[in-house]
Amino acid sequence: MKRGVVEELEKIVGKERMSTKIADLYVYGFDASIHHRTPDVVVRPTTTQQVSEIVKLANRTRTPVIPRGAGTAMCGHTVPLKGGIVVDLAGMNKIKEVRVEDLYCVVEPGVIYDRLNVELGKKGFWFPTTPGSGEACTIGGMVVTNASGMRAIKYGATRDYVLGLEVVLPTGDIIHTGTKTLKNSSGYQIDRLMVGSEGTLGIVTEITLRLAFKPKASAMTLAAFNSLHDAGKCVSNIIAKPLLPSAIELMDSVTIKAVNKCMNVGLPDVAAICMIEVDGHPTAVDDELKIVEEVARASGAVYTEASKDKKRIDYWTYARKAIMPSLSRYGEAFVSVALADDMAVPISRVPDAVTAFQRIAQENGVIVGTYGHAADGNLHTKMLVEPGSDDSWTRGERAVGQIFDKVLELGGTVTGEHGVSITKAPYMKKERADSIEAMRKIKKALDPKNIMNPGKMFDWEGNVIAHLRYPAFLETKGCMPDKTCTPQPEEKSAQK
Ligand SMILES: Cc1cc2nc3c(=O)[nH]c(=O)nc-3n(C[C@H](O)[C@H](O)[C@H](O)COP(=O)(O)OP(=O)(O)OC[C@H]3O[C@@H](n4cnc5c(N)ncnc54)[C@H](O)[C@@H]3O)c2cc1C
Repeated sequence: MKRGVVEELEKIVGKERMSTKIADLYVYGFDASIHHRTPDVVVRPTTTQQVSEIVKLANRTRTPVIPRGAGTAMCGHTVPLKGGIVVDLAGMNKIKEVRVEDLYCVVEPGVIYDRLNVELGKKGFWFPTTPGSGEACTIGGMVVTNASGMRAIKYGATRDYVLGLEVVLPTGDIIHTGTKTLKNSSGYQIDRLMVGSEGTLGIVTEITLRLAFKPKASAMTLAAFNSLHDAGKCVSNIIAKPLLPSAIELMDSVTIKAVNKCMNVGLPDVAAICMIEVDGHPTAVDDELKIVEEVARASGAVYTEASKDKKRIDYWTYARKAIMPSLSRYGEAFVSVALADDMAVPISRVPDAVTAFQRIAQENGVIVGTYGHAADGNLHTKMLVEPGSDDSWTRGERAVGQIFDKVLELGGTVTGEHGVSITKAPYMKKERADSIEAMRKIKKALDPKNIMNPGKMFDWEGNVIAHLRYPAFLETKGCMPDKTCTPQPEEKSAQK
């Protein structure tokens, strides 16, 4: 980073809202991915004007800028690959307007998903995309990753709710895209371009979101299967019935065993379960519960339990949400990593996909837990690797390649909701081969100096087992993060 940048940043945000302390920088080098790299400085602006001045300074000095919400992204999105300024937007967290009569709200990017829904819930409305990280993730982070979750089958993804945005472009200019109206056909839909841009095209500083009506009732059926394939088939049978559930969460035997072992939740010890949620008017919910049970049985369910009791449903949901932490404690030698973790396939291909993942895991001698928002074909596969073992990573990486090849063969995508960044980059390039050049041109037009979150997505070269957060493995490669990837503390102060 060029001399004087830190001092200029201090003038923009004030000393108390920035840091160059090595401990802070180290922490800001992580998100929820397998990667890590340390930035040069972290700033925490509170206004759009400050964001604009930060970006103008970065543009002038060609300093990389990495926007950051809550850092829950799973593919290295907020990892500052080339050092630079991390812009932590968590402090811009005002809910500025809720206008239920016009069906929209206006929020700053640092508002946390669950907090927004508490406010909207008081008026009978919600923003229903329901990411698993809703307790922590920010609306800004959700917009630029096009986040969604278990209810996307019925309620869609974040892009379906973005009416308008305020954006600081890579030049520092502030623009407003979209409107506060529910319909809008005026010109290029730049807000749509920002959705999924992963911090590479600008910084979102205000979001206008469409609101949805909160359903009056909901209920859930837990269906247990002795065959993973049957569980997958149940998903498409429900949709084809036709019945539109608000969610279907699928868990395979690895994930069931993990949560039973670590959380002692007592889920049926079977090959797979589906948690099928329906919502709407209470009478419709009653009718749909009956149909769900009928279809689940016809699809091969060996056990079903339907419930309208909130405590019972919360308990199942708790078990489902416990998958990630439980897999991390599956066996002492392993860590659970987000490698192939977020593919989506056409709904009817879910059975083929889940059975193929199990076969690929076995063939490569790795443990893969498969679960996910199967109602819309979105599956998650967490892989257990031994972080200190080259061989374990190599087998894992090979399995990931095969898994994604299978997904593409089935007509799917390598990421349904988490995005690309580093971990999915080589596979996204395969999937989007004929549109990568168009993406590059858009990036170049908006960010000719390549300062916004550089080195990610189509700009990522190489494989994904890189810049790992796991020191044991890096030591064997002679590549500890702070020795090779960013300057040491003394070098940093010498540069200022
Ligand atoms: C336990 C767990 C469960 C999860 N479940 C889901 C799920 O169900 N569905 C889902 O979609 N995702 C899920 N995720 C992934 C993650 O939570 C989402 O991608 C989320 O939207 C990221 O929000 P964030 O605030 O943490 O953003 P960050 O991780 O901080 O940033 C994500 C990306 O957005 C950019 N960014 C952040 N804020 C801005 C801004 N204001 N302007 C421009 N760029 C910005 C960053 O540069 C980065 O590229 C999960 C993650 C975890 C750890």
